[in-house]
This record gives sequence, C-alpha cells and structure tokens, in this order.
Amino acid sequence: MQLFDPKAPSDLIPVLNLDESEVQRQMTVCNACRYCEGFCAVFPAMTRRLEFSQADIHYLANLCHNCGACLHACQYAAPHEFEINVPKAMAKVRLDTYAEYAWPQVMGTLYRRNGLTLALSAGAGLALFLCLTLMVMGNLFTAIPGGNFYEIFPHNTLAVMFGAVFGFAVLALTLGVRRFWRNVSPADAPAQEKTAAALEATANVARLKFLDGGHGEGCNNADDRFTLWRRRFHHFTFYGFMLCFAATGVATLYHFLLDWSAPYPVSSLPVMLGISGGLGLLVGPAGLLWLNLRRNPEHGDENQKPMDRGFIALLFLVSASGLALLAFRETAALGLLLAIHLGLVMAFFLTMPYSKFAHGIFRSAALLKYSIEKRQPNPINAGSD
Ligand code: SF4
Ligand code: SF4
Repeated sequence: MQLFDPKAPSDLIPVLNLDESEVQRQMTVCNACRYCEGFCAVFPAMTRRLEFSQADIHYLANLCHNCGACLHACQYAAPHEFEINVPKAMAKVRLDTYAEYAWPQVMGTLYRRNGLTLALSAGAGLALFLCLTLMVMGNLFTAIPGGNFYEIFPHNTLAVMFGAVFGFAVLALTLGVRRFWRNVSPADAPAQEKTAAALEATANVARLKFLDGGHGEGCNNADDRFTLWRRRFHHFTFYGFMLCFAATGVATLYHFLLDWSAPYPVSSLPVMLGISGGLGLLVGPAGLLWLNLRRNPEHGDENQKPMDRGFIALLFLVSASGLALLAFRETAALGLLLAIHLGLVMAFFLTMPYSKFAHGIFRSAALLKYSIEKRQPNPINAGSD
C-alpha cells in the first residue's frame, strides 16, 4: 500500500503548475495538523476541504494576507523535512493568479517584471506631461496668477485623458476579478446570506481583520515578535487613497454641478480631503516600505519585492508631488510640479490593473467568498450523523 508522502506534490490534479502543487502539498499537511486554525480565514476555509482543486488553491492563496503568523508557529517549517512555508507558497500562487486572470490576459505578463513595468510607465508619464507643458507654455517655470493650472491643461482635456485611462483600468480590474470569481465560486448562495456575507466581508476589508495574527497582536514581520504596524500602515494607505478619491469626486461635482472651477481655497472640502488623503498616502507607503526592507526573507516571495516596492514608491511619489503642487501652485514651479504630478498619476492609472493594486481587489473577492462559504453547511461534516 502506498502511504501519503507529505514531501511529494500530490498527483490528484495533474493540471496544477509547480506553485499550485506546492500549495496543495502544504495544505494537505496543514489539514492533518490544524494547529493554525484560529490564525486567519485560510485555515477554516481549508478545513472545509479534503482535496484542493486549482480553484480552491487560487481562492486560498488570495485569502492569505501574508501575515507570517503560521510560518513562525509551524513545527514543520525548515529545517524540518516537510519544509512548510505557507505564506511563501501562497504568495507565489497569488502572483500566478494576477497574471492568469488579468484582462486582457496577454497583459498579465506585466506582472512578471513589474518593477520594470512601473519604472517605464512612470518615465513615459513624466515625459508625456513634461513635453506637453513645454509645448503649451514654452517653458516649465511660469507663474500663473492664483495657481490656475487649468490655463496649462483645460479641465475637459484632463477629464477626457484621465477619465479614459481610469475607465479602462476599472474595466480591466472588473473583468479580471469576475473571471477569478467565476472560477472559485461556481455555486450561488441565497440572497439573504449574500447580504450578510457582503456586510461581513466589507467589515473585514475595512478593518484588515486578518492582519491581526488571529490574536489581535498583529503580524510577524522581521522575527517572532508581533507588530500591528503593517496593519496600521495599510490603513493609512487605504484610507489615504479613498480620501484622495473622494477629493477628486467632490471637485468633479463642484465643477459640473455648481459651475465652481479649481483652484479651490485650502479651506475648501476637496482640498481638505486631498490634504488628508495625501498625508495618509505619505505615511502609509513610507511605513510599508520601511517594513518591507526589514521583512524576514522567508515571508512571501522575494522575487515580488520589486513589484511591492515599485508600487509603494509610486503611491508615495504621487502623493508627495500632489502636496508639493498645492504648496507651490502660486510660484513659478507650478508648470514643472503639475507635469510631474500628472505624469505620475497617469502612470498609476495605467498600471492599476497590472500592479500590486490588484491584490486589494482579489483579496476582497476572496474574503467575500469566505463569508458566503462559512454560512453554508460544512461539506466535510454534511455526510456524517
Ligand atoms: S502551518 Fe504548520 S503548524 Fe500551522 S497548520 Fe500548517 S503544518 Fe500545522
Ligand atoms: S501567512 Fe497569515 S494570513 Fe497567510 S495563511 Fe498564514 S496565518 Fe493565514
């Protein structure tokens, strides 16, 4: 009789790639061990399965928040021969899923050299707006009374340019996550349960619940000590982004509904929202970069650090250039700062569906599936008395 060998990838599902086979192997070990059941959503979801299909593996990989808790707790981590490292195995599959579900799929290859993708996009965005500013103004250093940057780029020109790119980014992300959802959630659930699940999933996203390590003390970052700073810096980043988004939304309403055009005074609602969001997008990315530089190399996939750091740096630069533009908009630096800010924002929008930004969307979908699934009867117990 052939006994189960936890070091060997299962041959249950031959279509799995190497990364997926490794997650399948590790989940089979974890499913027998179950020591980490209370740490996060991955382990309760795991215990609802005896085997792990490709869709299950994609779902679990995106449910993992890479908090490191299960690696530091694991008695089967290296140097044990089982070499269990769930966060690393999950991180590798996560990247595969971003590339595989990307829309259009050919663009998924941008995830493979994402640091370079971000750098080239930023360079192209900056070159575009520096050239446009030179064409319009003749130089980059002309002061405009009141800091009215719409004299350089009219509002409707910017609205069309950025609206088109942002619209494409939203479409690409929506179609990508829809493909992911259809693969991992083929079954439907009662509408009442869906509502409760959606509320719970929203709360879990908003609180970043599963960055608390399961005990409330936070992630492991550099070593066995827990820290809540990863969760806090994610919150600064997430809510900073949402406030900047709100600032743009309010400014658009002012422009089209109230016929009140920018530049707005510092005390106005869009500028106050923008300053608050901008500060969040300075503190959050700076903190995340600091943690990333100190992170234990066994956490996650080292090969993805250029993607992580490139995205963090782009967010930071978008915010820093936006705040600098606000501070110096009534000086001769207006043209240069505007070109830099618009170029970086354009690079951010262009790469949104093919950068680390996607992790928030895919993880939210996985959390929604988790909240729906946990309300269904456990298929493992369903057949027992
Ligand atoms: S990560 Fe290790 S300790 Fe945790 S459930 Fe898996 S095998 Fe057990
Ligand atoms: S790294 Fe954290 S979130 Fe991921 S499976 Fe382990 S405990 Fe769960």
